[in-house]
Amino acid sequence: EVDWFSLASVIFLLMFAPLIVYYFIMSCDQYQCSLTDPVIDLLMGNKHLSDIWNKTPTLTYRAAGIYTFWVAFQVVLYVFIPDFCHKFIPGYAGGVQEGAVTPAGVVNKYEINGLQAWIITHILWFANAYYFHWFSPTIIFDNWIPLLWCANILGYVVSTFAMIKGHFFPTNAKDCKFTGNFFYDYMMGIEFNPRIGKWFDFKLFFNGRPGIVAWTLINLSYAAKQQELYGQVTNSMILVNVLQGIYVLDFFWNEAWYLKTIDICHDHFGWYLGWGDCVWLPYLYTLQGLYLVYHPVQLGTSNAIGILMLGLIGYYIFRTTNHQKDLFRRTNGNCKIWGKKPEYIECSYMSVDGTKYYSKLMTSGFWGWARHFNYTGDLMGSLAYCLACGFGHLLPYFYIIYMTILLIHRCIRDEHRCLSKYGKDWKRYTAAVPYRLIPGIF
Ligand code: NDP
Repeated sequence: EVDWFSLASVIFLLMFAPLIVYYFIMSCDQYQCSLTDPVIDLLMGNKHLSDIWNKTPTLTYRAAGIYTFWVAFQVVLYVFIPDFCHKFIPGYAGGVQEGAVTPAGVVNKYEINGLQAWIITHILWFANAYYFHWFSPTIIFDNWIPLLWCANILGYVVSTFAMIKGHFFPTNAKDCKFTGNFFYDYMMGIEFNPRIGKWFDFKLFFNGRPGIVAWTLINLSYAAKQQELYGQVTNSMILVNVLQGIYVLDFFWNEAWYLKTIDICHDHFGWYLGWGDCVWLPYLYTLQGLYLVYHPVQLGTSNAIGILMLGLIGYYIFRTTNHQKDLFRRTNGNCKIWGKKPEYIECSYMSVDGTKYYSKLMTSGFWGWARHFNYTGDLMGSLAYCLACGFGHLLPYFYIIYMTILLIHRCIRDEHRCLSKYGKDWKRYTAAVPYRLIPGIF
């Protein structure tokens, strides 16, 4: 059942999320990244909406060509080049991997080759920038708004296709979820793991590529633009490139682990993931770099070191917490967490076909400090990206505001789901680990 609040949020997001993205990018393009100046201009009558719209770059053949090539290239890397990285990189889990058990009791297989796709793409990017010179490394920045229209088209096409597919030819009908509410189903998705053929998995592809592979390229394009405009790349731009680069690389290094996260394990594939991965992620997660093109902040050494430390400590907490859970679940608790055998709560749940399964909730390591300390680390890292931009404007801080809302909402959503999955066992767990994000506070 869809409650009125969820429905109102869904309709709000469907209507306004594309406008929010447009507003942010337009404010950089026309107002030097000021979020208030466009509103002031409109309220004072200095400008009409049509003036802003008329100044906005339109869809171009060039952008359509770049975008089509980009997505097609990522499809080729995903579908046609099986992973070879796991054969020679020690400790890397690539190649064919299994996902979690779906509510209908299915275990999907995935070809994990994201790291390889990322490496090949970046080698080609640098080869072009330093050797071949087929195109300027500022190409992404230079076509940013025309590319936004292309990303939107893909986002809507994919979400609409997923909706039709869910109704008429689902990959696994037993894993479909219908609420009967069109808007909710469109946004939150019907199919759990839509696929074309055996290997083209919508969630894995759209979550990781083209959006997350593009993330580091977009930042590199911004750095190249700074170099072109000012003759140098600022230390803040380098910080943003490095910290976000670590986050992206971590994502691909742990792509197999990602199969066990909420996006793949619990969310259905609809507009939220389809459009979100095509538009929201590449455009709004890269706002810091975009801002620094317009405002090239040069940080003092101590500030730069402080921000770097915050980012690295946040990353360490994020990664260690996620790793602890992954290790614990993979070994079924037969491992060491901080040198000791982990403590846990035994729990059970039923799948839709009535089969009983058993699971464990760890109460050791960071999982004993708070129920989502991985989110806390993620938020620290996110804050570091924003701080690198100084305090001149609100725009670069959108990311930490958004991530705080996203992760708190996600935390509550996940706990709601875990409560209905594990029942009284979940209550025993929350009694043992009473805080969500910050021990003693929340
Ligand atoms: P988690 O990795 O925290 O996974 C939550 C699930 O883990 C629960 O549903 C439950 O699943 C299981 N679980 C919960 N508590 C325990 C425990 N004590 N012991 C063992 N298993 C437990 O959440 P996410 O998938 O949301 O996040 C993964 C990472 O991705 C996080 O670090 C987050 O910060 C990051 N992230 C980043 C986003 C971004 O946009 N940058 C967006 C979302 C996430 P089960 O049913 O298996 O028991």
